[in-house]
Amino acid sequence: MSTSVFESLRENLGGSLIAEGDAGYDQARVVYNAMIDRRPAAIVRCQDAADVAAVVRAAADSGVDLAIRGGGHSVPGFGTADGALVADLGDLTSVQIDPASATAEVGGGATWGMFNAAAGEYGLATTGGIVSTTGVGGLTLGGGIGYLARGYGLSCDNLLSAEVVLADGSVVTASPEEKPDLFWALRGGGGNFGVVTKFRFRMHPVAEIYGGPMFFELADGPAILAHFDAAVRTAPREFGGFPAFQIAPPLPFVPENRVGEPFLVVIFCVNGSASEGEKIVQGFRDVAQPVADGVGPMPYPALNGAFDALVPPGLQHYWKAAFFDELTPESIAVHMQHGPLVPTVNSTVHFYPINGACHDVASDATAFGHRDATFAVVIAGMWPDPTENAANIAWVKDYYAAIEPFAQGGGYVNFLSEDDQPQASTNYGANYARLRSVKQAYDPGNLFHVNQNIAP
Ligand code: FAD
Repeated sequence: MSTSVFESLRENLGGSLIAEGDAGYDQARVVYNAMIDRRPAAIVRCQDAADVAAVVRAAADSGVDLAIRGGGHSVPGFGTADGALVADLGDLTSVQIDPASATAEVGGGATWGMFNAAAGEYGLATTGGIVSTTGVGGLTLGGGIGYLARGYGLSCDNLLSAEVVLADGSVVTASPEEKPDLFWALRGGGGNFGVVTKFRFRMHPVAEIYGGPMFFELADGPAILAHFDAAVRTAPREFGGFPAFQIAPPLPFVPENRVGEPFLVVIFCVNGSASEGEKIVQGFRDVAQPVADGVGPMPYPALNGAFDALVPPGLQHYWKAAFFDELTPESIAVHMQHGPLVPTVNSTVHFYPINGACHDVASDATAFGHRDATFAVVIAGMWPDPTENAANIAWVKDYYAAIEPFAQGGGYVNFLSEDDQPQASTNYGANYARLRSVKQAYDPGNLFHVNQNIAP
C-alpha cells in the first residue's frame, strides 16, 4: 500500500494510523489468539463513524484488504489480515444506559465487561458473552449466546437498531423500519454487511443472580448431562448456565487434592431469587453429590467475569462447534470419552442451551441459522505453550469427529475456526440464500470478506 494513501487517510482521521515501521506497530497488530501472527499494512484506531468511513473508502479505493476489529476475540483472527487496512474499533467503547426506556447504546468496539458494568449500575443486562473481554460487536453480529439466552433470546434478538458504515462509506441506520433487510442480516450474519459503530439494545432486569460452578465426578457425568438435557426442557426460563468439561483450577471451594483433575462442571445462572435458584440447583445435587460447590448469590457482572482468569489474552486457540437437538445417551457416551481428556486448565467444552426465548423467534426472522437446536456445543482448545499445538489441535479435531454424527449440519459462526470456512452455507441453513442476496445488495464487491464469509 502506498505511503500517499496513508498520508491522505491520516489527514482525514480523528484517530491515529499506525503503519508497519511506526512505533507501536507490533503492539497494535496483536489479537487475542496468539496463533495469529499477521502483519497488516496499517491499523487505524478509529474515533468515530467518520473515521471508519474513511478507512472503508481507502480500502475500497486502493484495493487493499480490509479487516474490522471489535474486541479482537475471533479465534480465526478475523480482526486482522496480512497486508490489510485494519479498522480498529477499540476506542468506540461508550456505553449509555437509559433506564427509563430500558435500552442501551453501545459503541462498536465495547466489550461485554464494559457493557455489563455500566448496565449493572441500573440492575439491567441483556444476553451477552460469558467472558468479560469479548467484544459486543463480533459476538452480537454472529448471534450471541450467553447465560441469559433462555430467558431473553440471543444477543441479536435484543438488538433494536444499529449505526452501520456500508461498503461505499455511507453511514446508515438499520432497524425494523430503516433498511430492514440489512437489519435482518446483521442479526446472525456476522461482519459481512458493514461496520457497526453503534448498537442499540433492549435491556432486562438482571441484578443479583444465583449462580456459579458446581464440580461433579466424571463418573456422575452421564447422569448430570442427562439431567441438564431434561432440565432445560422444563425449568423456568430464568434458568441459564451450561455443563462443561473443565480441569479444576485452584479455587477456594475446590478441595486442594482435586485441583488439576478433570470434572463435569455445571455453571449455573438463575436470574431470580436465591430460593428459586436453590430449587433448580438442588435438582442436580439430588442426582449426584458435587465434589465442589461455588454456587451462591452474586451480581451478574461478577459471573460474567468469572472465567476471565482462565482465558487471558495470548493463549493459542483452536475451536470447533456444533448444534444438537438433544443430549442422547449415545452422544453423552461419546462426550464422556473425549471431554475428560481436556488437555489444559484453559481448554473446555461448553454445552450452551439455546431454547426458551431463542425458540420464540421464527427461524427466518433473523439471519441466525439454527433456531431449532437445543444446544450449541463448543470444543474450545486453549493452551499457553505453542510447542503443544499439535496435541491440543488433535484433541479438538478428534472430539469433533466423534460427535459430528450426532449434530445438526453446520456450527455457530462465532465458535468456528478458519478451516470451517467451506461450511458457510450449512452454518446458515435455510437463511443462506437470503443472506447472499442481502450481501449482493450491500457489498457486491465483498469488501467485508475477512470473516466467516458469505459470498455475494
Ligand atoms: P473480533 O475479532 O474483533 O471480530 C470478530 C468478527 O466480527 C470479525 O469478522 C470482525 O470483522 C467482526 N466485527 C467485530 N466487531 C464488529 C463491528 N462492530 N462491526 C462489524 N463487524 C465487526 N460467543 C458467544 O456467543 N458467547 C460467548 O459466551 C462467547 N465467549 C467467548 C469467550 C472467548 C474467550 C472467546 C475467545 C470467544 C467467545 N465467543 C463467545 C465467541 C465470540 O462471539 C467471537 O469470537 C466473536 O467474533 C468475538 O467478537 P469480537 O468483537 O471480540 O472479535
